[in-house]
Amino acid sequence: MTSPAAPAVPVKGTAVHLDHLTRTYGPVRALDDLELELAPGEMVVLLGPSGCGKTTALRALAGLEDVDSGRVVVGGRDVTELPTNKRDMGMVFQAYSLFPHLSALDNVAFGLRLRGASTKDRRRRAGEVLELVGLSAMADRYASELSGGQQQRVALARALAIEPSVLLLDEPLSALDAKVRTQLREEIRRIQQEVGTTTLFVTHDQEEALAVADRVGVMRAGRIEQIAAPHEVYSRPATAFVADFIGLSNQVPGSVSGGAAHLLGTRLPLVDPATADGPVTIFVRPEDVHLHEDDAGTATVLSSSFLGAVRRTTVTLPDGTTVVSQHASPLVPGDRVRVELDVVPVVCSPRS
Ligand code: ADP
Ligand code: MG
Repeated sequence: MTSPAAPAVPVKGTAVHLDHLTRTYGPVRALDDLELELAPGEMVVLLGPSGCGKTTALRALAGLEDVDSGRVVVGGRDVTELPTNKRDMGMVFQAYSLFPHLSALDNVAFGLRLRGASTKDRRRRAGEVLELVGLSAMADRYASELSGGQQQRVALARALAIEPSVLLLDEPLSALDAKVRTQLREEIRRIQQEVGTTTLFVTHDQEEALAVADRVGVMRAGRIEQIAAPHEVYSRPATAFVADFIGLSNQVPGSVSGGAAHLLGTRLPLVDPATADGPVTIFVRPEDVHLHEDDAGTATVLSSSFLGAVRRTTVTLPDGTTVVSQHASPLVPGDRVRVELDVVPVVCSPRS
């Protein structure tokens, strides 16, 4: 007799609201009035330098950390006072947290045992999620016999087995080598979209964040500086911190007046219209800088390197500032060039 097909993992999606969370450790404000909302089924990646409060935010959502003020709201319900085991969250951390002497299947089934499922149901469900993460063939291997990437797949399967309302991932790929890291992040994204679980993913790796997120929240000192789609935080950074932290930016001296930035004879709109007049440092992406060979040009090529997909050329301006361009046709050191800038909104920071 054939049993009915195992139900597909149900599409879930619970809204999450970190409502003005503050958490201090002595003088350190690990969370400083942090405000963050996740839409049902959304994957938000918190990105920021070490110590900016990413793990604290995730642990506050999980109930592993108390907050001094603010609320954690999941699915419209205030869970701030609820213990971790009542919050229905799946978690994966950087360090493999499997039982080495248990098989992959038993590791996954373990979390279900705590929830009182029968042995048969546990093994069936564990088998399903191991298949979801592509590890069916390894179900009977001891965790200690699995590679780092495979162990993190098991950890992910274990987190998903309980059908959590929210999935929390804290630097889950940081201990893996580069190739496995790239593969597994694509897998995590595929699985997350398939399962539809609202997910908060924390990393300090910008490429990872940009690759998998619906939205990236760039954190600094316990707050989110900007939260937007990956292409937007990259191409329209809202602050100097974001422009500097994400991708490569030239920082070129220029000025602000009349509601615009002025650089190399080009008038550039301001990201922040409230930027005060005066001398500023202007953040410019290398791909927004174009070089034209021109004997009357005022810039001189310093170096030019072929990087496979792109060529990166550094030029020196008359005042000695160097600027990197990423569109250049082959140029050689000493060539005279005219620099043309794309007219895109720019971030400026005051310069004294
Ligand atoms: P991230 O994950 O972004 O690297 P964390 O959230 O771990 O940052 O830490 C944020 C800040 O809070 C850091 O300055 C850290 O030293 C501090 N912090 C975190 N946990 C504790 C703790 N248990 N005791 C004291 N300080 C802590
Ligand atoms: Mg951390």
